[in-house]
Amino acid sequence: MKSVKPQVKLINYSPDAGQLLAAAARLCYASSDAAALDQDLASVADFVKKLREMGHLSPLEHAVFTFHIAGVSRAMTHQLVRHRLASYSQRSQRYVPHADFDYVMPPQLEGRTVDDDGRSVPADAYFAETMQLIAERYRKLNAALGEAGERSNEDARYVLPNACETSIMMTMNARELLHFLEERLCLRAQWEIRAVANIILDLVRPVLAPVFDGSGPKCIRLGGCPEGKFTCSRYAEIKQRYAGHRQAAP
Ligand SMILES: Cc1cc2nc3c(=O)[nH]c(=O)nc-3n(C[C@H](O)[C@H](O)[C@H](O)COP(=O)(O)OP(=O)(O)OC[C@H]3O[C@@H](n4cnc5c(N)ncnc54)[C@H](O)[C@@H]3O)c2cc1C
Repeated sequence: MKSVKPQVKLINYSPDAGQLLAAAARLCYASSDAAALDQDLASVADFVKKLREMGHLSPLEHAVFTFHIAGVSRAMTHQLVRHRLASYSQRSQRYVPHADFDYVMPPQLEGRTVDDDGRSVPADAYFAETMQLIAERYRKLNAALGEAGERSNEDARYVLPNACETSIMMTMNARELLHFLEERLCLRAQWEIRAVANIILDLVRPVLAPVFDGSGPKCIRLGGCPEGKFTCSRYAEIKQRYAGHRQAAP
């Protein structure tokens, strides 16, 4: 058992994604299919950028990206899979025993202390100790259930925490990725899914720059924050980070 950090790999994507999107868009207007499909590489970037500016986004759905996301918590993936226009395959807590599960520890715990019945304990140590205790209880409950693989794992897992490490494969098209990034790069989004979204942006930007250059939380496209009283009030800083050349993630 150990504390882990997110690892995101872009393991597959549509080849020549920019040309593919541009061809799909041009086909809508072209009298000759051959002219639409025969793309001049130099003009693709400008054309795809223009599609984004016009909000003509359905051609972006032809390009798909597949990520392997590991070292993340079940709390994170529970939020991730709310994005419905994607495909997911996730490690099962039924088929895979979790007696020695790894876990994600919120970095915010570092440097804090817990008052444990008058005993002052470093919060990160307290958290790690809790994970050990849960694992022990999981093992004993699994034994009580007859340690019968899938049949006992599926019930013993009820004591596993949100922090439990998981591994998920996700395939998303470029249009939904833009939406996902807009929602999850916002400072209102939870820190772990925001960290994953930042890594995803770093991975897809070099592959499909005309689509992902200048993408970021939704305030970037809207020119300001729509969140009312929940605003982070950091629009200028966020704009500098995402709208042009992106700097370190917030
Ligand atoms: C900061 C933050 C806080 C959140 N807090 C909560 C919370 O407290 N509780 C909670 O339950 N969720 C919460 N969520 C999750 C949120 O409500 C959405 O479920 C999630 O962001 C997925 O995005 P989406 O609904 O835009 O849909 P996606 O599944 O990503 O779909 C993309 C778009 O497709 C369209 N679409 C997809 N499916 C349908 C459909 N069935 N009908 C019509 N249009 C559709 C919509 O235009 C949608 O925006 C939170 C999200 C964020 C970013």
